[in-house]
Amino acid sequence: MEITTEGDLMEKIVTLCKRRGFVFQSSEIYGGFNGFWDYGPYGVAMKKAIEQLWWSEMVEKRDNVVGLDSTIICHPKVWKASGHIDRFGDIMCDCRDCKARHRVDQMPDPKVCPVCGSTNLTPPREFNLMMKTYVGPVFDDEHVAYLRAETCQPIFVDFHLIRIATRMQLPFGIAQIGKSFRNEITPRMFTFRSREFSQMEMEFFCSEEQSMEWYRFWKEARYNYYRNLLEFREDEIQFHDHDKLAHYAKAAVDIEFKFPFGWGELEGIHHRGTWDMSRHQEFSCQNLEYFDPATGKKYLPTVVETSVGLDRTFLAVLSHAYDEQKAPTKKEGIDEDLRIVLHIPPRIAPVQVAVLPLSKKLNDKAAALQKDLWNFYRTELDLTGNIGKRYRRQDEIGTPYCVTYDFESDNDNAVTVRDRDSMEQERVSLSNLRAYLDKKVFGY
Ligand code: ATP
Repeated sequence: MEITTEGDLMEKIVTLCKRRGFVFQSSEIYGGFNGFWDYGPYGVAMKKAIEQLWWSEMVEKRDNVVGLDSTIICHPKVWKASGHIDRFGDIMCDCRDCKARHRVDQMPDPKVCPVCGSTNLTPPREFNLMMKTYVGPVFDDEHVAYLRAETCQPIFVDFHLIRIATRMQLPFGIAQIGKSFRNEITPRMFTFRSREFSQMEMEFFCSEEQSMEWYRFWKEARYNYYRNLLEFREDEIQFHDHDKLAHYAKAAVDIEFKFPFGWGELEGIHHRGTWDMSRHQEFSCQNLEYFDPATGKKYLPTVVETSVGLDRTFLAVLSHAYDEQKAPTKKEGIDEDLRIVLHIPPRIAPVQVAVLPLSKKLNDKAAALQKDLWNFYRTELDLTGNIGKRYRRQDEIGTPYCVTYDFESDNDNAVTVRDRDSMEQERVSLSNLRAYLDKKVFGY
C-alpha cells in the first residue's frame, strides 16, 4: 500500500471533491467566489450525516441537552452586547511591496512579510469580520443588521424562554447547528477558513462551583466522540490549551486535527464564565438570573461551550479517509493500478451500500433490492461499467459495502458483499442481509 505524500494531499482531496461532486467552488461559471463553497450530491449526503451524528450524540442521546434553531439575523443589539461589533476582528497589515495581506498574530515576525521578506509594511489595522446587511426598505445606518458570526449568541438570548418552556433546571445545555458568516480577510485552505460555514455548538449552563467539573466532562466527551465515532487516530488529534485566557474564562482548550497543511483548530471547548449572560443582561435591561430551587439562590449561570465547525469536521474526515493504493488490482479485474479509496466511517459515508447487478439482465432485480435497502441505509444503484470499475468508483466516494446481484442470486437467494477496506468478498443470504449490514454499518 502506498500512502500519498503530505504535500500534495490537500490538492488531491480538492481535486477528488470536485470530480466526484463532494465540494466545489461557489459560482464557478462566474469565476468563483472566494471563501464560499457548494456541497454537491455526495458532499451534502456526508455533511448531513455528520450533522445528524453530532445532533444525536449531543442532543438526542442526552437528557440534559435540548435543541434550538434560531434565525441567522437577529436584533443588532445582540452583537453589540456580545462585543462582536466593537471588537470582532483580525489585526492585519499589508506588505507595500508584494501587496500580500497578513494576520499579524500569524506572522512569525510581525515586522517582516512572510511572502517576500520585505519590512515595508503598513501599520497593523483591525478588520471587522461581521457581515452587514439591511433589514427593511431603507438602506441607512438605522437599518443595519448582521448575519450571525456564531450560532451561540441566540442560545444565550433565548436561554430563559427555553428554560421556562422545557422546565429544565441547571445544569443543562442548549445546542444548535447552523450557518455562520465571517468576512474572513484571507479565506484559505479549501473549506477550512470560509466566509460562510456551519457550526455545531452547545452551551452548557451550570453553577460556578460545578463549572470546572463540567468543563472536564465535555472535554473528555468530545475527545471520545472523535476517537470512537469519527474514528480519528490518536496521532491525528490533540488538545491545545489556549496560551492566553479571556479575562472572564477559567479554562479554554482547542481540539486540533492534523490536516494535510498542519495542525488546525477543529473545535473549541471554552469556559465562558458568566460573561455572555451578564452582557445580555446589561444590554437588554432584563434580569437573566436563574433561581435555584435547591438553594433558594439567584445567580447568572456559568457557561461551558463546545463549538465545532461542520465544514472543518468534513475536511478532517476526508483528510483522515483519503488513501491511494497501488495493488492488488488485477484480482478485481481492471488494469489501472491506482486505487483511490476513502476510508470514511460507514455511519457517515455518503453511500453506505451500493447495489451492483452483474449484468444488464439483472438490473430490475438489483433495483428492487436497492428499494428495499434504501429504507435503512443511504444506497446507490450502480449500473454501468465492468464490475471492477464500479468497485473503484465506489471506493473513491468511500462506499463501505458493495452488494453484487449475480446470476446465482436467483438460485441461492444470496448476494456477494464486497468490503471496501479489505476488498474481501462474502456470500450473504438475502434473508440475512439486513442483519449483516446493520452490524457492519452501525455496529449492532
Ligand atoms: P480560528 O482561530 O481558526 O479563526 P476561531 O477560534 O475564531 O477559529 P471559534 O470562533 O471558536 O473559531 O469558532 C468555533 C469553530 O467554528 C472553530 O473551531 C471552527 O471549527 C469553526 N470556524 C470558525 N471560523 C471558521 C471559518 N472561517 N470557516 C470554517 N469554520 C470556521
